[in-house]
Amino acid sequence: MCVNLLPFQLSIQYHPRVWGGQRLQVSPQNPIGEAWLIHEHNLVKSGELAGQSLEQAAKSLGADLLGYKYAGSRFPLLIKILDCADWLSIQVHPNDTQAVQLEGAGQLGKTEAWHLLEVETGAELICGVKAGVSPEQLEAAIRSSTVRDVAQYQAVQTGETVMMEAGTMHALGPGMLLYEVQQTSDITYRVYDWDRPASAGRALHIEQSVAVTTTKTASITPRLEAGILTQCPYFVLEKLVEPSTYTPDGSSFHALTITKGQATLQSAGQTWDLARFDSVVIPANCPEYSLSGHFEALRSSLP
Ligand SMILES: [Zn+2]
Repeated sequence: MCVNLLPFQLSIQYHPRVWGGQRLQVSPQNPIGEAWLIHEHNLVKSGELAGQSLEQAAKSLGADLLGYKYAGSRFPLLIKILDCADWLSIQVHPNDTQAVQLEGAGQLGKTEAWHLLEVETGAELICGVKAGVSPEQLEAAIRSSTVRDVAQYQAVQTGETVMMEAGTMHALGPGMLLYEVQQTSDITYRVYDWDRPASAGRALHIEQSVAVTTTKTASITPRLEAGILTQCPYFVLEKLVEPSTYTPDGSSFHALTITKGQATLQSAGQTWDLARFDSVVIPANCPEYSLSGHFEALRSSLP
């Protein structure tokens, strides 16, 4: 049975990280690296689904929430804000097939994309392997903890979007605040962790890294005023800046996050006032909804 569902908001999970900064702050002693805005373990804050996790809502509502294009029953995307004050580990993620082979049935791979919200002058990230490096050289570098020599460093700017396919070696660098959309997966293989004191106790995953790392580099979309920033088989990421009305066509949910200014969301006579980083899940069978105000928003959905 098809039901009309209203948009809903979720509680947020804040995660301290050794590389975290002060911009998602809860307390100065605890640098927060990641705010998980939309994740299957977050709880619905109000409305008919209040108190349920997004995972429970996805199981009970199925295609009415997720959309008819999606065959699975897990909420397939994870949306985060990351505040990077130091280098993250140099890392890599498996694809769907490798995730099952290496981690077991039911695991998903992790392709991710980053939209850079605030980047300090001179900030860099690692977005793959330098051109001309062979698979054999890459494996030798991973095994000898010398991947910095083969890594492709890339200067980045506010407004750019980076698509990081599974298998691409990467690291976010200090001086950036960003929005991340990724497959629902937390499988990270650390290739190298900078030999820093704060990394003590954070394991490396050398064999898994050798198994999944390719010699690819990531693609970067320059700053756009609005429209599709990037897409892949797992998600489409769009930037919205104009007040407008949208009608979901039932094929996918919309995951909406305000990144600048203030927006008012209206649907079926209800109103939500949204500030920076407020997020809303709009079910695939939601009736029409409208956005007004002076805002920038990011919207992730299934392709
Ligand atoms: Zn990653």
